Amino acid sequence: MYRLLLLREGEAALKGKNRSSFERQFLANVRAALEPYPGARVYRSDGRVLVDVGDHPWRDVAEAVGRVFGVVSLSPVRTAGLAWEQIEEAAVELARETAGRIRSGGGRVTFKVEARRAGKQYPLTSPEISRRLGAALLRQVGGIEVDVHRPDFVLTVEVRPEEAFLFAETIPGPGGLPVGVGGKAMLLLSGGIDSPVAGWMTMKRGVRVEAVHFHSFPFTSERARKKAEDLAAVLASFGGGTVLHVVHFTEVQKAIRMHCPDSLSVTVMRRMMLRIAERIARRRGALALVTGESLGQVASQTLESMAVINEVTNMPVLRPLVGMDKVEIIRLARQIGTYEISIRPYEDCCTVFTPKNPSTRPRPEPVHRAEAALDVEGLTARAADSAETVDFGAAVRV
Ligand code: ATP
Ligand code: MG
Repeated sequence: MYRLLLLREGEAALKGKNRSSFERQFLANVRAALEPYPGARVYRSDGRVLVDVGDHPWRDVAEAVGRVFGVVSLSPVRTAGLAWEQIEEAAVELARETAGRIRSGGGRVTFKVEARRAGKQYPLTSPEISRRLGAALLRQVGGIEVDVHRPDFVLTVEVRPEEAFLFAETIPGPGGLPVGVGGKAMLLLSGGIDSPVAGWMTMKRGVRVEAVHFHSFPFTSERARKKAEDLAAVLASFGGGTVLHVVHFTEVQKAIRMHCPDSLSVTVMRRMMLRIAERIARRRGALALVTGESLGQVASQTLESMAVINEVTNMPVLRPLVGMDKVEIIRLARQIGTYEISIRPYEDCCTVFTPKNPSTRPRPEPVHRAEAALDVEGLTARAADSAETVDFGAAVRV
């Protein structure tokens, strides 16, 4: 019954000079999201981006394209022929259905009609269309009344050269910029709640994200790794794919445990993570690192600690969660579908090796002395260069 989805784009359309490459990337990303739905396609028509859902249930297709960054909102569209009776009949059906969905317990539902003409050939003006349709709906649909100021639903009619579009439901999308217009970053993806959200927020700004996961088999189980893979798969669905680099971190952790004071082991471990991630990032053409760190959430997340950890890299380290509360992060994690994966109870490489009293305000000099006992270069190179690569769908390039 709904054959089309109308997609509303956000900022991409506003970006001046870059507009046409943004547009191409946006359409390519929508196309990638439609891959699991053979026969469905996206196209542009009279200034609108439309998705033909083919033979698939529109809600499934809407859910897939509704994850694509750049989509501000979408509406399932009903089409009708241009004869007045056809428009009226489709509007009546749509109003009945919408009022039924909104109404709970038999109350009255308010509406208004908004009409637009794409091309001015149609014999009625937009206000005339609105008035006539409004009157027809009041006559033919029970339990609805007009409220032009705060209606429960707006029924929009768009009269186009070949047919009319009617819609009454608007589903919010994620907004943001199409992934791929803003370069590439390397996300440090643990199995926790925060880092997948940090990845999502980075992608939202148009940046393609690949991920690094540090895995300490046999100290952490295959299920911990599977968690990171499942999280990467969710991230991939927002931007036409991602690549996960699984780093075997056991040798590094053993060396730290053997040679560094307990109280500094977490700091040294984080520095090693950044070094290894940076090496992989350079190899993959990523220009920045991304972490799920924020400030003050746990004892170790202090500015002092961040500064000492950050020393080892010249790459920008993005921390998109730094201004967010845990409650907000969890809300987002639920919304994007990573929360349920993140709370699976498997241990992480950090928790396994966490000492009883980690230093929460580490000073640089003791950390440098501790690291002098390690073959930092060799450990970094071996870990980075032996990382396994798991591909979650090809990134879309335009
Ligand atoms: P998260 O919920 O993302 O695990 P967190 O609040 O537990 O974050 P930390 O454990 O201090 O915070 O980790 C800080 C950041 O370091 C993580 O957000 C992530 O970016 C990175 N990180 C930690 N452990 C790993 C890992 N095993 N693999 C890759 N990155 C990691
Ligand atoms: Mg964690």
